[in-house]
Amino acid sequence: MEAGEDCCVKVAVHVRPLISDEKLQGCKDCVTVIPGKPQVQLGAHSFTFDHVYGSTGSPVSAMFEECVAPLVDGLFQGYNATVLAYGQTGSGKTYTMGTGFKEGCQTGIIPQVMNVLFNKIESLKHQIEFQLHVSFIEILKEEVRDLLDPSSMSKPETANGHVGKVTVPGKPPIQIRETSTGVITLAGSTEVSVTSLKEMAACLEQGSLSRATGSTNMNNQSSRSHAIFTITLEQMRKVNPAIPSESGLNDTMNEEYLCAKLHLVDLAGSERAKRTGSDGLRFKEGVHINKGLLALGNVISALGDEKKRKEGVHVPYRDSKLTRLLQDSLGGNSRTVMIACISPADINAEETLNTLKYANRAR
Ligand code: ADP
Ligand code: MG
Repeated sequence: MEAGEDCCVKVAVHVRPLISDEKLQGCKDCVTVIPGKPQVQLGAHSFTFDHVYGSTGSPVSAMFEECVAPLVDGLFQGYNATVLAYGQTGSGKTYTMGTGFKEGCQTGIIPQVMNVLFNKIESLKHQIEFQLHVSFIEILKEEVRDLLDPSSMSKPETANGHVGKVTVPGKPPIQIRETSTGVITLAGSTEVSVTSLKEMAACLEQGSLSRATGSTNMNNQSSRSHAIFTITLEQMRKVNPAIPSESGLNDTMNEEYLCAKLHLVDLAGSERAKRTGSDGLRFKEGVHINKGLLALGNVISALGDEKKRKEGVHVPYRDSKLTRLLQDSLGGNSRTVMIACISPADINAEETLNTLKYANRAR
C-alpha cells in the first residue's frame, strides 16, 4: 500500500462484454461507465469505486498492474494479501481470476501472478533463498475440500444432483486452525512445494479440473463453491555481507526469515437461491454459500470503516469458514482487493445492482 492510502480494502468493478448468448437473446447493455471516472451507472443508481474496468472504463489490461501487482510486491516484504472475485454466476469471476486454467492460457489474474512472481524470484535468487508452496481448496456447504489431494477426486454429478465424492476412509476432514501467533493454518490439506512456473501452473490446472460444479438454471458450469488458490512465499536471506540488500529486508537477525501468503479467491455465485430455481440440496447449498458471502461482506465492511476500526469494533471472522480461513490475510497489515464482476446485460440488471450494492458496502 502506498503512503497515504490508509484503507486496507480496495474495490474494483470489472464489466465484461455482452457474451454471444446474451446477444442471441437480444439483451441490451444497461451498464454505463462514466468516462474518465471510476463510476458506474445502472438505471437511476450511480456508484463510485477505486477502479472500474470494462469496454468503456479503464482498459482491462490495467487491472493486474493497478490492483494485483502491488500485492505480489507486498508478499516479498512479508505482507499477506487477498484478491477476491465476487459476482453472480456468469458474471466473469472465473475468467477474471483465471481459475478455469488450461495450459497455455494466459488470461486471468492467477497466471499473471505466477509470471510476475517467478520473474521476481529469478532476479533476487542470488541474495535470497525462496520456498514456494501452493494449496488449492474449495469451500462447499461450509465444508473444506482439498482440490490438490490426489486420493480425493470429484466425480461427475449423479442423477439426483449429488456431486460424487471419493473420500478415503480414515482421512480426517480439513480443519482451519489458528496458531498462538494468529497464523491461520489448514490442517490436513495438501501443500505442494513448487520450484518452477510449470509446477505451479500444473497445480492450478489440476485443482481447476477437480473443482466441484453442478448445473443450475443459470449456467450449467455454475459453481456454488468458493475456490481458494493460496501461494505461500518463504524467504531466507543468504548471509553474505558482501552482497548489499536490494530486497528491502532489514539486516537484523530476526528479520532474515519472512513468510507471507496470497489468497486468490473465486467466490461462489452471489445470486439469490430463489433465482437458481432449485430446492432441496441445491437450496441448502445456496443458503450456506450466502452464509460465507454474508460474513465476508460484514468483515470487509467492518475493516473498511475507518471509524469502526479506530474504535476497535469486533470483526466477525468466525461467522463462516471462508472468513475464518482468510482471517490473517484480511485486515491488519494485509492488503485486500475485491473485484466485483458484472454482466452488462439488462436481464441481469437486478443481480448486477445487488453486486454493486455489496461492493459499495465494502468500500
Ligand atoms: P462466473 O465464473 O462468474 O460464473 P465465467 O468466468 O465462467 O463466470 O464467465 C461466464 C462466461 O462469460 C464465459 O463464457 C466466459 O468466457 C465469458 N466471459 C467472462 N468474462 C469475460 C470477458 N472479460 N471477456 C470475454 N468473455 C468473458
Ligand atoms: Mg465460475
